[in-house]
Amino acid sequence: MSMAVSGLGPYDPQNVFAKILRGEIPCRKIYENEHALAFHDIAPKAPVHALIIPKGPYVSFADFSSQASDAEIGGFTRAVGHVAAQLGLEDAGYRLLSNMGAAAGQEVPHFHVHLFGGAALGPMLQ
Ligand code: IMP
Repeated sequence: MSMAVSGLGPYDPQNVFAKILRGEIPCRKIYENEHALAFHDIAPKAPVHALIIPKGPYVSFADFSSQASDAEIGGFTRAVGHVAAQLGLEDAGYRLLSNMGAAAGQEVPHFHVHLFGGAALGPMLQ
């Protein structure tokens, strides 16, 4: 189970990504495998802005990296690479980012990785 290591509290099954996983609210799906779902961010900060989330109930990277099984971590990592390839970003390059916890400004308390691409991104995205 998720621990409150992020400043975000225990896993909240009513968070927006949990609702997307249950099909209760729509998303613009890019890719899905057994352990992960990828969809377009609702407020893109780059020409391509995808989110990749594990299907399990992990609040943050700390939870995911410490509690998910090797199969979940493998499936999630492969999904990230698959999404980048599917979106045609491998040659130009792209940026992966994950806000871990309150101090980093993580807003949605379900672990996710942002994938940015489609433009020269500069040294840092805020
Ligand atoms: P965080 O600040 O790292 O937690 O990023 C959360 C991201 O989720 C933000 O980029 C939001 O735009 C995005 N987001 C919030 N709600 C939705 C949604 O319903 N669909 C897709 N993206 C969302």
